[in-house]
Amino acid sequence: MNDKRERIPREPVREPYRTKVVESIRLPSRAERERLLRGIGYNPFYLKSQDIYIDLLTDSGTGAMSDTQWAALMVGDETYAGSRSYDDFEQTVRDITGYDHIVPVHQGRAGEHLVMQSIARPGGIVLSNTLFDTTRAHVEYRDALPVDLLADIAWDFDEPHPFKGNFDLDKLQAALENHRGRVSAIVATLVNNLACSSPVSLENMRRVRELADRFGVPVFIDASRFAENAWLVTQREAGQRGRPVADVARDFFALADGCWMSAKKDGLVNIGGFVAVRSDQLADECRQRLVLFEGFPTYGGLAGRDLQALAIGLREALDEDYLRHRVAQIEYLHDGMREVGVPVSTPAGGSGVYVDVARLYPHLTPEDNPGIALTADLYLHGGVRMSAGVFHLTTVDPTSGTLVNRDFPCARLALPRRVYGRAHLDHVIASMRDVLDGAHKSPAYRLVTAPRVLAHFFARFEPVAPPSDHLPPGNQPRGRAMRG
Ligand SMILES: *Cc1c(COP(=O)(O)O)cnc(C)c1O
Repeated sequence: MNDKRERIPREPVREPYRTKVVESIRLPSRAERERLLRGIGYNPFYLKSQDIYIDLLTDSGTGAMSDTQWAALMVGDETYAGSRSYDDFEQTVRDITGYDHIVPVHQGRAGEHLVMQSIARPGGIVLSNTLFDTTRAHVEYRDALPVDLLADIAWDFDEPHPFKGNFDLDKLQAALENHRGRVSAIVATLVNNLACSSPVSLENMRRVRELADRFGVPVFIDASRFAENAWLVTQREAGQRGRPVADVARDFFALADGCWMSAKKDGLVNIGGFVAVRSDQLADECRQRLVLFEGFPTYGGLAGRDLQALAIGLREALDEDYLRHRVAQIEYLHDGMREVGVPVSTPAGGSGVYVDVARLYPHLTPEDNPGIALTADLYLHGGVRMSAGVFHLTTVDPTSGTLVNRDFPCARLALPRRVYGRAHLDHVIASMRDVLDGAHKSPAYRLVTAPRVLAHFFARFEPVAPPSDHLPPGNQPRGRAMRG
């Protein structure tokens, strides 16, 4: 660290685990990194694992399993129908959620597929605090309209609101009134991934349930990060402080009719997911589709050993020592980046740290692909991979209830669970400081090739203008102003 910008000393984040197995990683030389970036058209999705020093592309399926989970793989029961591992998994999910019907799937989007076929009607609307992109795609696949009701403060990275993930209740009410009879379901994403992984408060969830009941609409939870959300509620919400995190999670589930989960997040496994619902009829419909698309209801596209590891992972994810450390790591990364002047969304939430790309690259317009500039710069400076993109949301005007389109640029350093240590995080912070220092010289990027579908995975770019050294030193990234 540069001594002019020395970090504020913090209480050490004590790891509630130690290392038993290691995996080598390597930082390629600067020249290699430059060559590699050119070769892959500056799209971080094309980078190879062996060329990445620290991979913060996603926290999905990238966590480390515990020794107990690895041991459980050996006792996994691979019986086709009636597997003992399914029973352990079913009991665990029932205990955690309180729902009767538990349907295993191979990952989150498979659960979205099963549920949306039943709940999203063609021409209907699905309301949400913000839908994750695969959920949105499954709503659209049913010819229904996804509408995101996050509050305007979620766009303000400096607004220190503890629950930026909340539903804007005025928007929710306006949408329910204005589109009466058209709304198929309300989905609460916990934590709210697109709103910088900020949590939803229990109070907000209660008000959502009241409005849903008033209009006769079912409520579902996207539970991929339910444990992080519940933990943040125990840290931030008046009346919830100090409560057992499992009780708080259970209170959220009690306010909904069902949920689905990508267990690749808070399930602490590399693959897996489930749907859990109250309704017998919805469960029957999901199970019939399950047989068609995933597998028999006691394995659902997973091996028995996967279910066994998941049953343990879900309980470990609610362990308070684990959660305290998990969130403290994200805070450490957030605080470190903020202290060196990088514009990040505050306060820290779950899953990772979000960067305000427009403020980091004030000389680049949205058409100049500043997200690509950031991912390229971070890899160039530190061999660190992150992701950046733009989400096209539909929201409502809270007074008129009419639909409005809005873009939400999203650049995230996602932190895998139980994988990286403090020195890794310090390396990321130092690399982001270097990105900030050189940001004013970063070129615009031009799209060279883009396929029609899933463009952000497969597009290729090239720098447009040569890096311009002529910007006066006063014209530094505005992010600097955030220091202090
Ligand atoms: C990852 C994720 C999904 C989709 O799950 P996959 O396991 O990637 O299919 C859905 N919702 C949220 C909030 C997620 O983070």
